[in-house]
Amino acid sequence: MKRIIDGVLKFQTEVFPNQKALFQQLSSGQRPQALFIGCSDSRVIPELFMQQGPGDLFVVRNAGNIVPPHAVAPGGVSASIEYAVAVLGVPDIVICGHSGCGAMTAILSGSQQLKALPEVSRWLNFANAATRVIEEQHAHKDERTKLDILVRENVLAQLVNLLTHPVVANAVQSKEVRLHGWVFDIATATVTTYDAEAGEFVPLTHASFVGAKS
Ligand SMILES: [Zn+2]
Repeated sequence: MKRIIDGVLKFQTEVFPNQKALFQQLSSGQRPQALFIGCSDSRVIPELFMQQGPGDLFVVRNAGNIVPPHAVAPGGVSASIEYAVAVLGVPDIVICGHSGCGAMTAILSGSQQLKALPEVSRWLNFANAATRVIEEQHAHKDERTKLDILVRENVLAQLVNLLTHPVVANAVQSKEVRLHGWVFDIATATVTTYDAEAGEFVPLTHASFVGAKS
């Protein structure tokens, strides 16, 4: 904890003075470029790997970058999605999985590990669509390959869940919001994005968002 407090004090004395004008401007409101839904994993820091600063991203992070379907239960993810779309008017929503995800590893490890983690177990039921793809199509593959596939399938499953939220479905329908499925690779910083036409994840490039508003 000492390192964290040192960090706060260092930020206040060394970093903040150079960004004072920005924070002053942001103190009256925010207009983030995107809603980012990622994993809580300490190695996946959205502002760092996307090189964004204060005010740029509206961020939701949880175990496994999960989006519970609409109307399952009131929750922080649903409320944040509604606020980001309806109030902040974000033009883009990114759901981002990552390599070596502990939540996805827990799913693959089966009921043994999850038995001791009832909350995690219940939460990861929201990834069941992805889990089924692994069980039905990739059961014979090695664990590392299965994990990589599950991470990607989970991003796709959560994009489907995202569209069950009326505020998102309406905004996508009227082309006010675009959805993106990403996977961040921790060892290489590579980001792949789901190409719906190709039906696969492809490397993110400048050309990934041709026609994007910003
Ligand atoms: Zn994770």
